[in-house]
Amino acid sequence: QFRKSTALSRIQPAATIAITQKARDLRGQGHDIISLSIGEPDFDTPDHVKTAAAEAVARGETKYTPIPGIPQLREAIAEKFKRENGLDYAPSQTIVCTGGKQVIANALLATLNPGDEVIVPAPYWVSYTQQVEMTGAVPVVVPTREEDGFLLTPAALEAAITEKTRWLILNSPSNPSGAVYSAEDLRGLADVLERHTDVWVLSDDMYEHLIYGGVPFATMAAAAPAMKDRTLTMNGVSKAYAMTGWRIGYAAGPQALIDAMALVQGQLTSGAARPCQWAAHAALTGPQDAIARQRDAFKRRRDLVVQRLNAIPGMTCPTPPGAFYVFPSCEAYLGKTTPKGRKIDTDENFVMALLEEGGVACVHGAAFGQSPYFRVSYAASEAELTQAMDRIEAFCSTLT
Ligand code: PLP
Repeated sequence: QFRKSTALSRIQPAATIAITQKARDLRGQGHDIISLSIGEPDFDTPDHVKTAAAEAVARGETKYTPIPGIPQLREAIAEKFKRENGLDYAPSQTIVCTGGKQVIANALLATLNPGDEVIVPAPYWVSYTQQVEMTGAVPVVVPTREEDGFLLTPAALEAAITEKTRWLILNSPSNPSGAVYSAEDLRGLADVLERHTDVWVLSDDMYEHLIYGGVPFATMAAAAPAMKDRTLTMNGVSKAYAMTGWRIGYAAGPQALIDAMALVQGQLTSGAARPCQWAAHAALTGPQDAIARQRDAFKRRRDLVVQRLNAIPGMTCPTPPGAFYVFPSCEAYLGKTTPKGRKIDTDENFVMALLEEGGVACVHGAAFGQSPYFRVSYAASEAELTQAMDRIEAFCSTLT
């Protein structure tokens, strides 16, 4: 008989993927569904990136790479951190992984023991808590407030730290709230961490390039240089260059941590796919105009979605400064009933009813650790978004 490990029994499939699958199934049964549940740019990977991968394959670059990545890509990563973030890392202090997801997994597996604690501000990206659980450590979820722009405050951080705390995971711009920490905000958190020298910071900067004015991007190791010796700065090509399927993420940090992460990776996956590393190399060193094009398109879409959602009676949707998600509240609809007689008591009921009776797939806030909100991804065309907003508006107006 099949028996799951204790570690596995603590984790669940990502709600984001589960809902996207449900939307696909409903579509397969002939229902007309618009999916705004996935965290994936709808643009295509830039042509010069595709060409670089094809050329690498044609050259015969099809074999194993060094575990932490090909030297050319590690150099390009060190150069990227210098150019865009003012951070000095030697290429040896960088690592290339199979997606941003593996950067986090490597770091957590390399450092956590059962019982250790990891502070995860909510709302959080779904994999943080699950990956922490896989190691036997404990995710300590710290809620943030809409009034604070969904940002972790120094006081809340201080209150969450114990002698078991090993990591604070920061994600700016945030999936799912779109919140962005300013350099000043980061320094406020660093002031607290100065008193707790065993706590390291994992800075997930995956959405760095998707910021729409207002607060400029900042990252902990640069905003608070005293934290650089205990910060892992991670990033990737998935969101910035529309390369989710190429599976390349990367990070830079203290040498001992990077070496430990490479040790983990060496036993799990070895070096990331070689042609994909060349594609990432082309993305980081080639023309950067695709980033600005994507950003302009995303900004128009964000404004459309925020404006349409706020026009729906009862709905409140803050304007997030970054990423490609909005995180409105569905509190006004709790306690109401759908035309088919379904009672809406939670944000999960709300998104399920919206999917099955309204034809739009979104993800409930509870999946990201914060209710009563839901996440709408605006990585879809303006035409699709307009139609989805019409549907959400119509659905909300039928609730009694
Ligand atoms: N970090 C955040 C905040 C994300 O939203 C994602 C992807 O959804 C990742 C990391 C993982 O990125 P990758 O697809 O490169 O593994």
